[in-house]
Amino acid sequence: MTLSPYDARTLAIRAGRTHNDTALAPVLWASSTFVANSFDQAKQFAADITEPKFYGRNSNPTVVDFENAMAELEGAEASRAFASGMGAVSAVVLGLCSAGDHIVAQSHIYSHTTLLLQAVCPRFGIDVSFVDGADTGAFEAAVIPGKTTLVLAETPANPKLALVDLEALGAIKGPMTVVDSTLATPIMQRPLDYGVDLVLHSATKAIAGHNDAILGVVSGSEELMSWLRGFAVLHGAVASPFDALNGLRGIRTLPIRVQQQCATATRLAEALQQHRAVRSVHYPGLESHPQYQLAQRQLDLSGGLVTFDLRGGLQAAITCINRLRLIQRATSLGGPETLVTHPASTTHAALLPEELAAADINGGTLRISCGLEHADDLLSDLTQALAPCI
Ligand SMILES: *Cc1c(COP(=O)(O)O)cnc(C)c1O
Repeated sequence: MTLSPYDARTLAIRAGRTHNDTALAPVLWASSTFVANSFDQAKQFAADITEPKFYGRNSNPTVVDFENAMAELEGAEASRAFASGMGAVSAVVLGLCSAGDHIVAQSHIYSHTTLLLQAVCPRFGIDVSFVDGADTGAFEAAVIPGKTTLVLAETPANPKLALVDLEALGAIKGPMTVVDSTLATPIMQRPLDYGVDLVLHSATKAIAGHNDAILGVVSGSEELMSWLRGFAVLHGAVASPFDALNGLRGIRTLPIRVQQQCATATRLAEALQQHRAVRSVHYPGLESHPQYQLAQRQLDLSGGLVTFDLRGGLQAAITCINRLRLIQRATSLGGPETLVTHPASTTHAALLPEELAAADINGGTLRISCGLEHADDLLSDLTQALAPCI
């Protein structure tokens, strides 16, 4: 059943209930295997890797319901869930590229995606060129006809929230295009609407949304997804039914959570921009963002992440982080709790000084993922923490 004429807020409530019977809430099918009622049925189930009730690595009813809900939200023909966001990224890269192929990838994206492209791809004979995602046309210019099979972008991109022009990306002919849309969720943007071939998410973040699941998902055409499904069954990084259940639970409140987080992030970004301890704020909803016009065109909301640079550098960042009482020191984003990270010493600690500089990350860079606490409380916590940094 397709629900697509509905608004995303309605889809979020109703999508992904095929295997519910009369249960209202999503159902956990915690079984690794399923019983066939005859020789013929067993044979039929074995022949179809989309069959939800054959064997748990091929598929599972709870996982399929999560996949269907994501397909509805992305406006895709099909989706496939994975054991993590990196499971999804790996499946796309290793499932769709072969030795001798070339990938054009955006530089300065999620650090483990970069590491996969830099460290794993060469071992399999896959060449990777990195381009500046904010430079419209750079992806297309780096495509080698007949050799480039995949163009990989992330928008908004971690941690400085640079954007990629989805219209330009979707117009690229030849290679498959894929967008890591984790920071936007399907509520803020739908890359497939621009002609992009595949969209993927770390559903660990805002989609599951409660910091209690590790989950990934890829969506696209039935043709590409059937190829990915075939690879996924052999690769084995399949989603657990319990995490898929948490994904379905999260989807119901995704639109309203994203809306609230974006409203809070906008308030923090505006306040930080006025703060004397802060040199610059990076937020797509601020006119000072270098791609503000693109953000207005492409994003329905401006996002729950705010990144800023402190004038006092590393020392100020350490002081601020240690003084925070409500905002917690933890990696991840998109959950109910507001979190702070210091990219230079955590997610990007493996980068050389010149690589950090190229990524515009310095000792004073902090990233806040807005949760669902009251914005007033978050603002006062941030203000008291920044007081000695002026
Ligand atoms: C977290 C994240 C990933 C990786 O997801 P996991 O679920 O941690 O494997 C990939 N891309 C982006 C943009 C992320 O934020």
